[in-house]
Amino acid sequence: MNYYELAIIGSYLDNLTYESEFECELLSEVIVPFGKQNKPHRAIILKELSKPNFMTKAIVEKTGCVLSKTQFELACFISYYYTCKLGFVLASFELLKPYETHAFNPLKSVSLSPLQSKAYDFLQAQSSSLLFADTGSGKTEIYIKLIEKYMQKGEQALLLMPEISLTPQMQKRLSVYFEDKFIMWHSKISKKKKDEALKALQNGEILLVAGARSALNLPFHKLGLIIVDEEHDNSYKANNKPYINARDLAVFLGQKHNIQVLLGSATPSLTSFYKQKHFRLKGTFYESEKEFIFDESDLGLSSLVLRELKTSLRAKKQAVIFLPSRANFRQVQCKNCGERIKCPFCSIAMSMYKNKNLLKCHYCSFVKPIDQSCPHCKGVMLEASKIGTAELCEQLKQALSEFSPNIAQFDRDKITSMTKLNAILKDFNEQKIDILVGTSMLAKGHDYHSVDLSVILGLDEFLFRPNYKASEECLALAMQVAGRAGRKGKARVLIQSKQKAFFQTYIKDYDQFLQDELENRKNLYPPFKRLLRLVIEHKEQRKAKELCEFLAREFKKLKSAELIGFGSCAIELINAKWRFYLLLRSHTHTNLIKIAQFAQQYKEVSADIDPNDFS
Ligand SMILES: [Zn+2]
Ligand SMILES: [Zn+2]
Repeated sequence: MNYYELAIIGSYLDNLTYESEFECELLSEVIVPFGKQNKPHRAIILKELSKPNFMTKAIVEKTGCVLSKTQFELACFISYYYTCKLGFVLASFELLKPYETHAFNPLKSVSLSPLQSKAYDFLQAQSSSLLFADTGSGKTEIYIKLIEKYMQKGEQALLLMPEISLTPQMQKRLSVYFEDKFIMWHSKISKKKKDEALKALQNGEILLVAGARSALNLPFHKLGLIIVDEEHDNSYKANNKPYINARDLAVFLGQKHNIQVLLGSATPSLTSFYKQKHFRLKGTFYESEKEFIFDESDLGLSSLVLRELKTSLRAKKQAVIFLPSRANFRQVQCKNCGERIKCPFCSIAMSMYKNKNLLKCHYCSFVKPIDQSCPHCKGVMLEASKIGTAELCEQLKQALSEFSPNIAQFDRDKITSMTKLNAILKDFNEQKIDILVGTSMLAKGHDYHSVDLSVILGLDEFLFRPNYKASEECLALAMQVAGRAGRKGKARVLIQSKQKAFFQTYIKDYDQFLQDELENRKNLYPPFKRLLRLVIEHKEQRKAKELCEFLAREFKKLKSAELIGFGSCAIELINAKWRFYLLLRSHTHTNLIKIAQFAQQYKEVSADIDPNDFS
């Protein structure tokens, strides 16, 4: 009889021991009886064991699929670094039978400008590096050239990008060079497309995957290159357990497996800028000139904003408007007692949707009719504030009625599928839409050729969030939105902010910002220090608080890490659970991982290493 240690795919449990009459290969997938009812379940063979002194269940059969070595290393690292069980991590991995890949010579090869060639020569010689390239300077051509190099050797390449960039335009662009040797992969992929993609991968035909975060877990059997486009983007960080950061995992895989890693961005993260060798690609491919206009009025449709929009409409040009929130208004407040109307399950102001006559919580999706009087003082002077995309669209239609412009809303309320995303981008590119009003979705690298005005509203609140990365993320967002205008020719960028000095200093000079911000963070924050955030959630406020205070007392005794804050979370209630946090800092991640492991003995605690979210 053979005995094996197995990871049960999708299980929160530790690894288990099973017996088998037949021999099983390490890292192969098997079916085992699992749980009280012995239901068939997928599992991975991890280790051969000697006969244990307890009863074991028998493995039913082999499936023929395996976890590739790269996948196994990645899963083990995620399990260790983000402190969660291996079986649970494996649930998001796709498995295939072993396969071979074949070299491919693209019919059409990309041609680079002298400057792009210089960048390429530098980058291709590094095991990992950063391409710090202005918007429109042509970084995609450099990616394509590098991918070609690996394809010619029969090695696979992974091109990671934010989900929203995986558009038909991108598919078309890649197919010019890579014909049918690539697949697109994202979280909203249909079952049919997914099966087709996996089948093509299994046949060894696929040498390139262009995909979102989850593509990192695909069964690559000969991965030679990972490119992380828009590497600064927050969508690489998961907001559920395990709280992985796909960019960091790509860098890890690169070091571990001799895979080349290239990160790219027009506004690189401070961490990558500090840690990676970089090439600075300046200038835009198309001649472009930007004029920056500052508007210090309060949030909303000011006369200056209207004036600039009219200028664009008269010139038959297009405009994009960025706004941080959706709905009509993000807040409804009582003028009498000052209370905001909050979700009963979350300590969050409810957003107002006028047409549907309802208030909605953007955290737990709870909805209720719009209150007619204040629930606290019964006063009737309710006032909506913090304008959202839907309201701005309505106000624009009225204020610009003489032009009867086509205005479209571009946010998570409207863009609920890839089909809708593609439809709206197509209409905008064909100039069927004059003004696109959207949230951070707007900032992603879509190319719009007739936009001569970018309007950026409501960033101040973003700038003052209690997050050490607030100014970095805020400036990056402003620059990304600004970059949507003037891909060809002159353009104006209007920034509505009371922080004119900050934007004026840095909006044209991200390089200087990175230098200054490095100074600000020294000895305090990443990339110089590591952070761990623990969040305790409990239905009873007292219990959550007690556990938080107990852990705080324990952590204050530590020498390996410093407790820099604890207490009630900024959003103290979500989904009827009270939330408390502890924030720890150390010079190494190993110390923090030990703390995370200790704290997670308590099931109310979740650990987020290298956190992005401090709410
Ligand atoms: Zn009131
Ligand atoms: Zn809620």
